[in-house]
Amino acid sequence: MTKWSQTEDDFIFDQREAGNSWDWIAERLIGRTKSQVYNRYNTIRMRRPDMEQSKDRKPRKCLSCGKSFDSDHRGNRVCPPCKNTVGWQAGISDLGIIA
Ligand SMILES: [Zn+2]
Repeated sequence: MTKWSQTEDDFIFDQREAGNSWDWIAERLIGRTKSQVYNRYNTIRMRRPDMEQSKDRKPRKCLSCGKSFDSDHRGNRVCPPCKNTVGWQAGISDLGIIA
């Protein structure tokens, strides 16, 4: 079996995070089967148990107030204070961030 590349690893993690199925992911990775993708995902997860939590943590601009805040993943685009205000979910949906 060909060695897994960082690009493939990232793709698998990103697509699982996005909620796509093993079939869907395997179809897009040339030469990989569904079970290979599944096993690879679990192997990486065991090695890096905190990866899902920390891999994408960085400051992001809040879509509501425009201030920079500590966002733990790319889907988190509204700062905690704004999340507590009424109407932020509707605003995010309008921008197409949450599909
Ligand atoms: Zn905000």
